[in-house]
Amino acid sequence: MNLVTRVYETSKLQPQKTAYHFMGKDTSYAEFDQSVSMFASALLGVGVKEGDHVAFLLGNTPHFLISLYATMRIGATAIPINPIYSPDEISYILHNSDAKAVIALDQLLPLVEKAAVAFPTIEQYIICETSDDVKEKIEALPEAAKEKVQLFSRLIATGKPNFEPVSVNENETAIILYTSGTTGHPKGAMLTHKNLYSNARDVGDYLGFSENDRIVATLPVFHVFALTVVVNAPLLKGATVLLLPRFSPSEVFNTIKSEQATVFAGVPTMFNFLYQYPEGKTEDFDSIRLAISGGASLPVALLHNFEEKFNVRVSEGYGLSEASPVTCFNPLDRERVPGSIGTNIVNVENKVVDEYGDEVPVGEVGELIVRGPNVMKGYYKMPEETAVAIRDGWLYTGDLARQDENGYFYIVDRKKDMIIVGGYNVYPREVEEVLFAHPDIVEAAVIGVPDPDFGEEVQAFVVLKKGAQLEEKALKEFCAKRLAKYKIPETIDFLDELPKNTTGKILRRSLKQHVKQ
Ligand code: AMP
Repeated sequence: MNLVTRVYETSKLQPQKTAYHFMGKDTSYAEFDQSVSMFASALLGVGVKEGDHVAFLLGNTPHFLISLYATMRIGATAIPINPIYSPDEISYILHNSDAKAVIALDQLLPLVEKAAVAFPTIEQYIICETSDDVKEKIEALPEAAKEKVQLFSRLIATGKPNFEPVSVNENETAIILYTSGTTGHPKGAMLTHKNLYSNARDVGDYLGFSENDRIVATLPVFHVFALTVVVNAPLLKGATVLLLPRFSPSEVFNTIKSEQATVFAGVPTMFNFLYQYPEGKTEDFDSIRLAISGGASLPVALLHNFEEKFNVRVSEGYGLSEASPVTCFNPLDRERVPGSIGTNIVNVENKVVDEYGDEVPVGEVGELIVRGPNVMKGYYKMPEETAVAIRDGWLYTGDLARQDENGYFYIVDRKKDMIIVGGYNVYPREVEEVLFAHPDIVEAAVIGVPDPDFGEEVQAFVVLKKGAQLEEKALKEFCAKRLAKYKIPETIDFLDELPKNTTGKILRRSLKQHVKQ
């Protein structure tokens, strides 16, 4: 039960088939396997071994695919990190994850320079060149950093082309995915080889992926949705991944047309941008047999408009990092229900329960809980949080849902107040912590408010110290130094006090009401 062996087998069965297409170039399964083999053996050569943790600060380039499969091939654990996180956020994860090596885009060299001093336990920084002047930049690094840094291209060239996968225990951790936690610090969800393999297989089966499919991969690959749905499932089924470095409607349309793509997967914001794109035409989606939405709720009006404009079926699914991620999808062989996340995928059970963990009657709202081979082992170094999340073998998702008489589930709201900005998660607490860190602020609260383009945007409410003078612009600049761009509050309201209940808890509901009025 692991992806590495299966994809390795595929490379022997269909060596000439294109595994991925990137920037106009096709890479066959045989070539992909050779790169993975070389990079895996090169990693071993520089002392990265089974059980070690390797952090990735990578975007949608082949470096990510090669690094992921090479890391798993030697039985090490991959830690994909969003490269646009702020230096503080990245540092927290590098520290918490006990990373021994880091594979990073060359744009992150300034951060690497600092990390090389701050984290003596990280032994290697492998830099992926995407621009021409990287070598000079590395040469210019201080000696202490330079001795730990090497180029991806040089390292991979030292590897062996015929290095076979080591045998891995399916219950070992293949990747640790950091998800923002309500405590303010992200938690590392440990996903085993079995978790990843079973979800990729089951999603692939459920959505009918085959070697004839060509899947547009414009979702960020370090996020679990992309990882399973547009990377692992297609590779497992011998399909072709059409890797796009970033999302842009024109690139998506061009790729679909020129590469005759068959599957498109995106978050609702992407569907909205594609729908709104003035030059988008019905025939742009002609080759697409299935459009997949997930990561946040897809507005029903958008689903209808999109299907009508592009003459394509849109199927919504649901998942979370802790479940590798998919638990529900609208089935292909039955009606797809707008507004619903669909039914149980193969091998996975979903249930709606009350506060005692008992299943609620059909139609009633409760917490969605999940059981299956895709559910994580636990949070890295957080046994207490793990015990709260997984009880009696069921993963408590923190999402409120209901089920109808046909077995379709509907997400009602997020129990955990998470805000989703253009598919990226923002937890109010992590933004509040930054606001609280400002010396002029005594109280702060953050909520999500609807945004036509990004689904939601972050709105903050702050109370200033008596006599303090602080402008919205200055506070946003303060946040910008500490948070990823999409987490910075779009609007900040300065209030005299925040609404609270009798125990002193801030009432987010009242703040939302305040915004509505
Ligand atoms: P992540 O761990 O980053 O994948 O975020 C998981 C969360 O995204 C879930 O717990 C839900 O709150 C939300 N989510 C994912 N898919 C959907 C969906 N189709 N509808 C509503 N919320 C969703």
